[in-house]
Amino acid sequence: MLNVTSRIFWEDFYVYEFTAIIEEISGNKVRLDQTAFHPQGGNQPSDKGFLKIGEKTLDVLDVQEDGQVIWHELSEEIDIGLISKEVLGSIDIRFRFSLMKNHTAQHLISGLFESELDISTTEAHIYSSHSAISFSRSFDVEELEKVMIKANKAIIDDLRVISSISSSSLAEEAKVRSKAIPSNDQIRTVKIEEIDATFCSGTHVKSLGELGVIGVKKRTSNSISIVCSIDSLEIIAMSNTHMANWAFEESQKISQTPNFISDRLKIIPDYKKQVMELSASLIDAWWKTQFIKPENDKCKLIIAPYENLPRNAWINGVPEIPDNVYLGVKTSERIFLIFAGEKVPLAANDLVTKIVEANLGKGGGSKKLAQLKPANFETISADITALFYSLFEA
Ligand SMILES: [Zn+2]
Repeated sequence: MLNVTSRIFWEDFYVYEFTAIIEEISGNKVRLDQTAFHPQGGNQPSDKGFLKIGEKTLDVLDVQEDGQVIWHELSEEIDIGLISKEVLGSIDIRFRFSLMKNHTAQHLISGLFESELDISTTEAHIYSSHSAISFSRSFDVEELEKVMIKANKAIIDDLRVISSISSSSLAEEAKVRSKAIPSNDQIRTVKIEEIDATFCSGTHVKSLGELGVIGVKKRTSNSISIVCSIDSLEIIAMSNTHMANWAFEESQKISQTPNFISDRLKIIPDYKKQVMELSASLIDAWWKTQFIKPENDKCKLIIAPYENLPRNAWINGVPEIPDNVYLGVKTSERIFLIFAGEKVPLAANDLVTKIVEANLGKGGGSKKLAQLKPANFETISADITALFYSLFEA
């Protein structure tokens, strides 16, 4: 009898926990009767997570398919006596969901490049942070912009992503973007309604609204990276402080991208709600945040403990910021922003220069808003506070 691992992910990408029976063990590799772990393939890395076997919890380091069988590589070897025992599997949700979003974004963009520009995709790679696509010919910023407008419109329309499995003989008749028919017995077609259909075995979200908004960076004349949701806001932040570089590298049209994304964000209900909540929380910060010495009238530093920030802050700075205050905010797991009021002794970019001189990271920006990529994100609040004391309390 042929062994076949039943693929839970093909039925439901949103199953993150499952139970299964161990069918075979080979060193630190285990084969289960079914799994929700997606193997490496379809241009995406394998899922991460763990298997709980008895009292032991073992990390799943890699997942590979061998024909119809899927093997999970574990962090250590397990006893062969555990065959036919039940295990609990749990997938790293954040990692998986990022892959699902970035993979779906890739289909969307590849599909639109084909339909709008008659440019086919020659290579696509999916990562948890972004997806990367290479195309059959180079294109200019206007063409890219045309695709991005359509893409974000499709996201706002929340178009459905539908997958179906058929035999290889039926697949030959399917009208899809894919040039080659996969050699598997069962072939999965993934459709984005009105836009794209292609053969793909990877993981995708069930409707485009889940992508949030997508941003794009041009890598070379014929390749791009795509990022989704909050990460695309980072592009906006970057484009504020590095606009000159961007304009140089990407041509001037790209300068319209932040406004474009910003406009699109306004009409996505979830983001609208989020932005309102964040705005409220930031205003709340004026009351709750501890004002740090020096208590003279010269200037103050507030470190606001918010991971996010109202969107208009990315674009315009924070109009409510008091005249004599610097505001430091962690906007993501990588970027720390510093806003400067009108009456502070150092502009935001000059303060960042001092921070960089103290070997605390790298960054730059403008008078009112500068960004910092801290050398140590964990301690950056304390490091900046200490530097601030040394600069202004002497
Ligand atoms: Zn796919």
